[in-house]
Amino acid sequence: MEAELKAMLSDLETLKRSLPDPSHHASIDKMQLRVEHLTNLAKSAPVQRSKVKDMSAEVVDSNPYSRLMALQRMGIVQNYERIREFSVAIVGIGGVGSVAAEMLTRCGIGRLLLYDYDKVELANMNRLFFRPEQVGMTKTDAAVQTLSDINPDVVLESYTLNITTVQGFETFVSSLKNKTFRPSKEGSGVDLVLSCVDNYEARMVVNQACNELNQTWMESGVSEDAVSGHIQLLIPGETACFACAPPLVVASGIDERTLKREGVCAASLPTTMGVVAGLLVQNTLKYLLKFGHVSPYLGYNALKDYFPTMEMKPNPQCSNVACVDRQREYLLVKPARDAAAKAKIEAEALSATEFPLHDDNEWNISVVDDSELDKTDVRSLDALPDGLVRELPNADEFQKLPVPLETANSIDDLDDLRRQLEALSAG
Ligand SMILES: [Zn+2]
Repeated sequence: MEAELKAMLSDLETLKRSLPDPSHHASIDKMQLRVEHLTNLAKSAPVQRSKVKDMSAEVVDSNPYSRLMALQRMGIVQNYERIREFSVAIVGIGGVGSVAAEMLTRCGIGRLLLYDYDKVELANMNRLFFRPEQVGMTKTDAAVQTLSDINPDVVLESYTLNITTVQGFETFVSSLKNKTFRPSKEGSGVDLVLSCVDNYEARMVVNQACNELNQTWMESGVSEDAVSGHIQLLIPGETACFACAPPLVVASGIDERTLKREGVCAASLPTTMGVVAGLLVQNTLKYLLKFGHVSPYLGYNALKDYFPTMEMKPNPQCSNVACVDRQREYLLVKPARDAAAKAKIEAEALSATEFPLHDDNEWNISVVDDSELDKTDVRSLDALPDGLVRELPNADEFQKLPVPLETANSIDDLDDLRRQLEALSAG
């Protein structure tokens, strides 16, 4: 671009000299000025902002963190700047993972570890984040390119590998263990793992690594028909792991394993993926910065705008050995943890009675107690909340198929079946 403009300038100069009539010179001078202006514009193309040492709450247009630091002033977050201490690993940089990575980058997360082995394709352009000029690049390289431009303060580590291979799994686990970013951190080197993969096998691999490392993680998924999704928090030993219970999908979801076949094109929408990425990062921020309620399971059914929630206890007969080990450890420390939690609630209740927050309730707002969440035992098939179905039957009760309660449900099931058959025959 710059070279072209330079050549044009010299062409104009030659033209000017070749014209004997000085009355023509004025218009050529004008053109030369325009080309010089264009050259300056080309030179000032994207300039990366410099790194920011401390997050400031100062309200000026040039402060990239002023709106985030305002969360403290608004009383939502106690210490927002702590976000710079946290490391989050994102496995799968597709329709959900890339958007989650961008959100965390814009929030000023300390360090992001990105894992993917795929390349950017034009077929990905119905989703957010990747751009057409990045087609052919690895998703990890393209993500680093975009994210480092958006926020150079974030430490980015990218791993172009497949975690379901033996070598890939080893590198994955050792990268999670690496504590050079914050040597004083307890446990592994990351605070949270986000699973944004699109298949069952990769989820089982993330589950295995996290159970072995006693690493808290969040799982996310979008159904193959693009109109439902979910996020789930998994704390080894404390909540059901991915192997404890057959995977759950929201009612309209399709069993991904029946559709994962060569040539079958699954549907995807930037809307559903954006919503799920938003829910996932929202839960991540709440978990890391300790505000609000961290959802153990949150579903999203786009057709009905329905968001089911639930909790799942671990299965003592889980086939994953590391999961059973973590459950044993959790039960040992549970009495002390429960006592501490009870004391905290009592102390809070006491201070609340001493200092009522709002004496006058002019809007008549009443607070609904939602602490009594339905806790579901993974062993009881019938205990799922309305709107959730199992993707696969429970291992112990494989002959007992879910019975539709109403005619409406059976029509939904038939529609699902028809869609599955149409998707299969389309391929
Ligand atoms: Zn388990």
